[in-house]
Amino acid sequence: MKKKTTPSNQELSRRRFLGSSAAVLTGIGFGSRKKLFGSGSSVEENEVKIKEYRTLGRTGFKVSDMAFGAGELAEPALLEAILDAGINYIDTAEGYGRGRSERIIGSVIKNRDRKKIFVTTKLGLRGDLTKKAIKDRALKCLERLQTEYVDCLMIHMPSTLEQLKTEGFHAAFKELKAEGRVRFRGLSNHGAQWGDVPETMEKVHLAAAEDGRFDVALLVYNFLQKDEGERILKAYKQKNIGATLMKTNPVLNYLEVKEQADQLKEEGKEVSERLQNLLDRLKGRADATEAFQKQYGLKSYDEVRSAAMKFVLNNPNVSCACPTIKNFSDLEFYGNLSGARFDLKAEKTLAAYKALYGDLYCRHACGKCESSCPHAVPVNTIMRYNHYFQAQGREKTAMVKYAALSQNKADRCWNCSGYCERSCPYGVPVQGLLVLADHTLTLT
Ligand code: SF4
Ligand code: SF4
Repeated sequence: MKKKTTPSNQELSRRRFLGSSAAVLTGIGFGSRKKLFGSGSSVEENEVKIKEYRTLGRTGFKVSDMAFGAGELAEPALLEAILDAGINYIDTAEGYGRGRSERIIGSVIKNRDRKKIFVTTKLGLRGDLTKKAIKDRALKCLERLQTEYVDCLMIHMPSTLEQLKTEGFHAAFKELKAEGRVRFRGLSNHGAQWGDVPETMEKVHLAAAEDGRFDVALLVYNFLQKDEGERILKAYKQKNIGATLMKTNPVLNYLEVKEQADQLKEEGKEVSERLQNLLDRLKGRADATEAFQKQYGLKSYDEVRSAAMKFVLNNPNVSCACPTIKNFSDLEFYGNLSGARFDLKAEKTLAAYKALYGDLYCRHACGKCESSCPHAVPVNTIMRYNHYFQAQGREKTAMVKYAALSQNKADRCWNCSGYCERSCPYGVPVQGLLVLADHTLTLT
């Protein structure tokens, strides 16, 4: 039973983010821009500058190592600053903000030298998949983007090997290419996608490498989930396919997770024995976190996140990372990591982080435990939404997506005996994490 008391800190923080989303839309988010540009400065004085460009596989295009994931783009001024900083790879999709991301991109790039920007957009495989329907949707993307062509058209999240071969998409692509409306073909895949029976991320990407028709790919790769990504990156390198990355940062501040747990108690939530065990373990981790921060002289978790980005960029098979850049602070953070090297301090920091928290990370693109849930709860999808909230600061997106699950939410996990947890090969205490995610992602 969920009891209600006075608004908790977390509820207040969730309400605050709703307010702050509006603030960004109305331009109040420019506080961090001042830091970027200096008081009264012009765009020319932008301090953030990309330092490294890499070849995007067989496209031959030199892309900035730090690219722009445009899923949360809300204002043209941010994109102007991103381009001024030298970021020249834009990753968007038909579905990002229901076309809003593409529309904002269009309003900016129409005034830029189009040849110097690589624009990738994506089409999900839903509804009518005939050549005509897919071509019409692609042309709508171009219309929103106000461009004659897109550099890369990706299949957005093909979940199975059959979807990778969707005839309508490939036939539409062929025609669009002949007409000069698209240049290269790609795919994105981060594995488990609830609602169908997905192949693993690795299977889909390795099949794409073998297929021969794909030029660019978007995959998950990070220091806690590196083996699968490294095998895929190697296969793409052999075929000269450009590899771009998402979900490069699996770092969570587990002090915050412990705070969440404390809030459950303050709110009078019923806590099962299993969950209590997790909370006790998190308390131990929280104490260890303080020691960890002290030992490595870390002033904030951003330093761990920086190390995580340095790790992925250290792989020569990576063309660029596409973090979601939501505001000017993100631009400053990620832009300044361009050209950064994975040094000994970063290596040690990540090793210590992994030892402390590696088992608390529900791997992206996994879902191995989902078949053991009697209620068909999409474990990996919910933990991904939680990651959007906790690690990427995409609170509204995360909560809207979670609400859209409508059934099979993690509210079922509060009083379950945790079949999923027992079948997780990585020992993730996922039942408790699902309960915390349910609490975080539900606005009550
Ligand atoms: S809990 Fe474990 S098995 Fe389940 S999705 Fe997460 S990492 Fe995979
Ligand atoms: S805790 Fe229980 S209900 Fe929740 S996902 Fe795991 S098995 Fe399913």
